[in-house]
Amino acid sequence: MFENLSERLGGVFDRLTKQGALSEDDVKTALREVRVALLEADVSLPVARSFIKAVEKKATGAAVTKSVTPGQQVVKIVHDELIQVLTGEGEPGALKIDNAPAPILMVGLQGGGKTTTTAKLARRLKDRDGKRVLMASLDIYRPAAMEQLKILGEQIGVDTLPIVAGQSPVEIAKRAKQQATLGGYDVYMLDTAGRLQIDQVLMQEVEDVRDAVKPRETLLVVDGLTGQVAVEVAQEFDDKIGISGVVLTRMDGDGRGGAALSMRAITGKPIKFVGLGEKMDALETFEPERIAGRILG
Ligand code: GDP
Repeated sequence: MFENLSERLGGVFDRLTKQGALSEDDVKTALREVRVALLEADVSLPVARSFIKAVEKKATGAAVTKSVTPGQQVVKIVHDELIQVLTGEGEPGALKIDNAPAPILMVGLQGGGKTTTTAKLARRLKDRDGKRVLMASLDIYRPAAMEQLKILGEQIGVDTLPIVAGQSPVEIAKRAKQQATLGGYDVYMLDTAGRLQIDQVLMQEVEDVRDAVKPRETLLVVDGLTGQVAVEVAQEFDDKIGISGVVLTRMDGDGRGGAALSMRAITGKPIKFVGLGEKMDALETFEPERIAGRILG
């Protein structure tokens, strides 16, 4: 993650730190390169622009230009700004799951990692937080997806709602709520159907499910490797459904993780978790510090 950006900034700041004192022009030159690096890392143009502006304001201050180690100070300002943009409100990874049974709605496009992430998160809630979790697949179009969730549930020791053919997503969601209530579950997770692209039918279906269960959390699961597309998908889901957070998957790949920065800056929604592989334990709390550190190398 962030290799390109990290290398680029490494090069820029190497030169800076060797120079000693910085003029305003030096700062400008360096930040031009930082901007290019951000764009290469797939950070969107408006986000890169406002990021650079914020850094420039702080970096051209007298304290920096007259300092003995101005290069390091600029690095610190870039680092702090990254943290600021990447950090959401509240504790990273925290979920509103009081008032049992708490519904968690999982949404996203097909192939983004929704079903896998549903199971990973269920496992985490069970093992780490000691919660009783029930999972239900609402993907009535792909029986294989329902079966996949059931198999994952068996693997991780989490119950799934029995599959009943012929029910609508809203009916399945209501049945999940009923079973979660009667069975004394703390959380029930609804794995909605995805599509290859956003379409009206999908959105309407998710809206109906949302209205039927009033989720405590609506998490968008999106492929972190898709960069700008991930951000657009998040915006669209947030406009139509209202999301409470984002899970970026495939962050184990050699993607240009700028999507994380754009995601935060554009949607304003917290990135709660990152997916780091196909295995059930490959889900981690999103940590701005770690990501900023990786960006700067
Ligand atoms: P869905 O259609 O959104 O439900 O997607 P799936 O959960 O079926 O995932 C699609 C594929 O992506 C599967 O092969 C998963 O194992 C894989 N996958 C999901 N999350 C991750 C991740 O964080 N990293 C990697 N490398 N693969 C993932």
